[in-house]
Amino acid sequence: MAGNWKMYKTPSDTTAFFEKFRPLVEKTEHCEIVICPPFTSLAAAVDAARNSSIRVGAQNVSWAKEGAFTGEISGPMIVAVGATHAIVGHSERRQYFNETDETVLKRTQAALEFGLTPIVCVGERLEQRESGNTEAVLVGQFQEGIAGLSAQQFAKIVIAYEPVWAIGTGKTATPEIAADAHRAIRGQVREKYGKEAADAVRILYGGSVKPDNARTLMAQPEIDGVLVGGASLDPVGFASIVNF
Ligand code: PEP
Repeated sequence: MAGNWKMYKTPSDTTAFFEKFRPLVEKTEHCEIVICPPFTSLAAAVDAARNSSIRVGAQNVSWAKEGAFTGEISGPMIVAVGATHAIVGHSERRQYFNETDETVLKRTQAALEFGLTPIVCVGERLEQRESGNTEAVLVGQFQEGIAGLSAQQFAKIVIAYEPVWAIGTGKTATPEIAADAHRAIRGQVREKYGKEAADAVRILYGGSVKPDNARTLMAQPEIDGVLVGGASLDPVGFASIVNF
């Protein structure tokens, strides 16, 4: 169960969130919990999550270890503050910051090289769904991006299916729509990496997940977890999603 805070919460907001959130998930054992704050609040989140099972992730990671890449943050820098995960290829990065399948692959490989667990996002835009191209888009994103990983690398990633039309819009994919997309992605995994890898990979659903729809989404066997944006900003709401 992963929370993507997008560009919200300062370090002091982060500390305040954890004070409320931690006790609510203290007994949670059925899942891993990852919170992904902005880079500037990573250290505060790591501090606030110390001695708990909550993990902290970044919202992006550079493909380079270091160098002349103004504004980028590298895997070793993220690891040095104590984070363990990194979201890669979020649709907002693809849409507003020219992220491509090629750069998603490079960032994913860098995350793995430096010991982070990448949460790699794929998903179609509204017009692509409406023109009947959802599966083709997902297959394209898989083949041009993720499929560049070796089997060994692939075994360490988490995939997030996030239909762009459902992100931040309040429109959640129905559990059936989400499960269909997850099946298509898992089918690609099976073809490329085999049945064992397809059975093992965790595919999260993301797109307007809320406390009142988490349970029906999670009831789909295809859906292994959720990546939550807006609703992860509230400690009580996110805890109730985690404990659906
Ligand atoms: C996200 O940012 O990954 C996301 C799914 O956002 P929201 O839950 O707000 O739609």
